[in-house]
Amino acid sequence: MTEPLEDGGSSQATAARQRFVLDDTGFDEVPKKYRRFYRIWNGASDELAPNEVLCPVCKVVIRSTRELRPGDRVYCMPCMSRLVVSVGEGGRLEAVVSY
Ligand SMILES: [Zn+2]
Repeated sequence: MTEPLEDGGSSQATAARQRFVLDDTGFDEVPKKYRRFYRIWNGASDELAPNEVLCPVCKVVIRSTRELRPGDRVYCMPCMSRLVVSVGEGGRLEAVVSY
């Protein structure tokens, strides 16, 4: 697995998604080849891109190469949480822990 978004590219819905090029932001809590998929969250004023979602457990921003949508399952490597993307207050995407 190299991408936090699980099953990425396997469904038709995924085909129409905007794609993103990720750069390494220096996040060093995961092995180097996974660094570009995570970044430090800068607090409430930090605007998340359509391909980003905040991990509610460790407050790290998880980034995908594809636009994220409600119902997507993502994996947070820094805290090893499995998360589901949902729509939170104000229509923003947020992740909730999946059991
Ligand atoms: Zn996390």
